[in-house]
Amino acid sequence: MFSFEVYPPKKTAPIEVVYKAVEELSQLKPDYISVTYGAGGGAATASATVEICSLIKNTYNMDTVAHLPGINLSREQVDSLLARLRAHNIMDVLALRGDRRPGDDVNIQEGDFRYASDLVRYIKSRDAGQDFAISAACYPEVHGEAASPEADLIHLKEKVDAGTSLLISQLFFDNDVFYRFLEATADAGIQVPIQAGIMPLTNARQCSHIIKLCNPHIPTDLQKLIGRYQDCDESFYKAGIAYAIDQIEDLIAQDVSGIHLYTMNSPRTAKAITDAVYPLMGR
Ligand code: FAD
Repeated sequence: MFSFEVYPPKKTAPIEVVYKAVEELSQLKPDYISVTYGAGGGAATASATVEICSLIKNTYNMDTVAHLPGINLSREQVDSLLARLRAHNIMDVLALRGDRRPGDDVNIQEGDFRYASDLVRYIKSRDAGQDFAISAACYPEVHGEAASPEADLIHLKEKVDAGTSLLISQLFFDNDVFYRFLEATADAGIQVPIQAGIMPLTNARQCSHIIKLCNPHIPTDLQKLIGRYQDCDESFYKAGIAYAIDQIEDLIAQDVSGIHLYTMNSPRTAKAITDAVYPLMGR
């Protein structure tokens, strides 16, 4: 399985820019394209996600997955979103807790869903939710708020047992970390497919942002690359793409369940990568 992630435009950017990117990405024929939904974004953000998913599904006839972060939503809002998705023939959701806004008190909860597993359980408990296929997120380097790696795995298993049929991983740059995570999930009795989340690093600014946000382990060869090319955008871009291709080639050789490419809405990046790795997958 080889899939893409896209995100709706920022508030100031026109949606047509994303439409164009989605059109070009769909020509690369991934197995599905997932569309993010900013947890703090309100009704307009939800509408943008539904609209882009609908374009993918109904105009380009491709499978799509709508991200659904429950942290600020009520049960009624989730019911209404599921109804809207169904009306557009979109039956796949990625159930998430959602990111807290900076400074939010972890003990104050605005919505009805404290954890993603609560949302998965709720969707599966609804007559109108049972036929949705539910994916969820997982963290090879442990989620930042987890009490321990063991606790994170226990809660991941709860999320799967609640009705999740596919896991998509947080980005990582060290494949060994991912392979150890696959072993740990298997030992914990988690049997659903786990797609590896790959984000190509394409410039020094994005790289600093990602490191600050996710704090992933950066292997020595990637550290060298970042140091060598940080002042040259085009060289950084080429080296970042080459690194992502190497990562994916190794993951394919190890027969992982799938790759989920964080495209950053860039058809150029996605094409450079699929051109290199699709032949290895017989596509
Ligand atoms: P959960 O599975 O609820 O886990 C959150 C934390 O709570 C973990 O530390 C877990 O160990 C802990 N936990 C879980 N259950 C329990 C329990 N019963 N008791 C105690 N602790 C528990 N965010 C968005 O806002 N929009 C998006 O579109 C989006 N897309 C994403 C896509 C992917 C593939 C990934 C990996 C992340 C995405 N995120 C998105 C970010 C995500 O919302 C954040 O990482 C968020 O902080 C956690 O979400 P989750 O669904 O993994 O939470």
